[in-house]
Amino acid sequence: MANPGDFAYTLKQQADIVRIVGDYIKLKKAGAQNYSGLCPFHGEKTPSFSVHATRQFFHCFGCGVSGDVFTFVQKIENITFPEAVRMVAQKLNVPLPKATYATEGEAKEARLRGQILDVHERAVAFFQECLRRPEGARAREYLSGRGLDEEMIAKFRIGYAPDSGFLLRDRLKNEFSEEALRESGLFSWKEAASPELRVAISENMASSDLRASGLTTKDFCFSLHPPNPSLKK
Ligand code: ZN
Repeated sequence: MANPGDFAYTLKQQADIVRIVGDYIKLKKAGAQNYSGLCPFHGEKTPSFSVHATRQFFHCFGCGVSGDVFTFVQKIENITFPEAVRMVAQKLNVPLPKATYATEGEAKEARLRGQILDVHERAVAFFQECLRRPEGARAREYLSGRGLDEEMIAKFRIGYAPDSGFLLRDRLKNEFSEEALRESGLFSWKEAASPELRVAISENMASSDLRASGLTTKDFCFSLHPPNPSLKK
């Protein structure tokens, strides 16, 4: 909940829900202050999803979901409220306030969590880069055989993880603490990674996009959704 005086409250006043929802679904003007589109939260062929520009509110007459810009981002990205606030702030280029924590342990946990998310983001970029390189040729063939075109590969941020898990670890080891790398769940600290084709799915990917594509994470050998329990919602 965004309450007066909160960062989230101020941010909400700056955010344009129409623009943010419009990043995810196609909206059409349906009145002076109303926009409508196909609801991303239930399957439908005629639009019953409505966004009100001045009230900064969305409502679906089909499945009944409603809320503000944060509720929308939370639901569509399947993330928590603080994560939705952070994401909206990023979309608007608004710097986040320095967080205050009740205890040093809480602050440390939050820092580690932030680092783990950064590790995952860097890993996605690294795997995407590998897919474009000559050694990604077999993976590109595999993906096109599975019917994934360039647009889908970019949209789902699919990448190729080379045989050696050490390449990524070497690249990241100077930037992140060993604890963050271990906790990221991306690396095996016992044996070398198996030389199978691996495909990475970004933590930030909208799960609704994945559903819309008819694929499941099981279609990929490797998902960046971390097995780390501290990242579970
Ligand atoms: Zn709906």
